[in-house]
Formats: sequence, C-alpha cells, structure tokens
Amino acid sequence: MATTFGTGLPNATDLTLQCCDHCHQVNYPPRAVCGNCLAGSLRWQRVDNTGIVLSVTQLHYSLEPEYAEHLPWTVASIKLDCGPVVLVHLQPDIVSGATVKLKLVQDQAANRMLVATADDSESEKSASTWLETVNFKEIPA
Ligand SMILES: [Zn+2]
Repeated sequence: MATTFGTGLPNATDLTLQCCDHCHQVNYPPRAVCGNCLAGSLRWQRVDNTGIVLSVTQLHYSLEPEYAEHLPWTVASIKLDCGPVVLVHLQPDIVSGATVKLKLVQDQAANRMLVATADDSESEKSASTWLETVNFKEIPA
C-alpha cells in the first residue's frame, strides 16, 4: 500500500505560498503566523517558481515500490527566488548551484509534490521524459 503525504500546499496548479500582509515575506511550510514578524495575516499568493539548488542527495533505498524501481532517487533543497527553502524531487544530473524551476506533480498514489527541473528550454524534453519515466503526472493548468 502506498504511503500518503502532503506538501501543505493549496490545490492550485501554480506554485502558491503564504505571503505576509505585514512584512511581505513568503512563508513555507504553511504556518499560522509569519515566520519573520509573527503577524497572523498570511495570504496564499502565486509566486515565482524559480530557484537555485543548495544541496543534492541520492537515496539508495525506498520502502515504496514505485520509488524503489527508480533508485537512486535524487532529492534536493532549493532556495526559491522568492525566499523560502523547499525540499523537492530533483531531475537527475542537476547539480548544486544550478538554476531550476519548480512544478507541482502527482505520483501514482495521487500525492501532490514538488519537483525541480532544469530551467532552460533545451531541458524541457528531458524533464518531460523523466517525469514520464517515474510516473509523475504534471497537474494541468
Ligand atoms: Zn511578516
């Protein structure tokens, strides 16, 4: 049986994060008050989906059969251009320091999650091939 988990993100096709009405900081993961100024007025807003890879690691073991068949599995921390650091599934062969763009996808168990792919038009085809290979479906706009 597949594990279910969540990102805490709203059901939107674009990257949508909490923004503070008081200090304008973008917050992630979702929270009740702003991580910067503790104001309680956070509003979900579409944000820029680009960022830079801070660190990369590869998983060599998974209890999830859907992931185990694609090991090693690459995960990364990404510093979004709008501020927060997020953890994502990373398209293979992307290294620390690379610029990436984030997408919301769904795995076979219908978990919505974040993936990062290379941020250039030449990589669009390889990103699509990778998503197809690992059975991640892009959430249609
Ligand atoms: Zn704030």
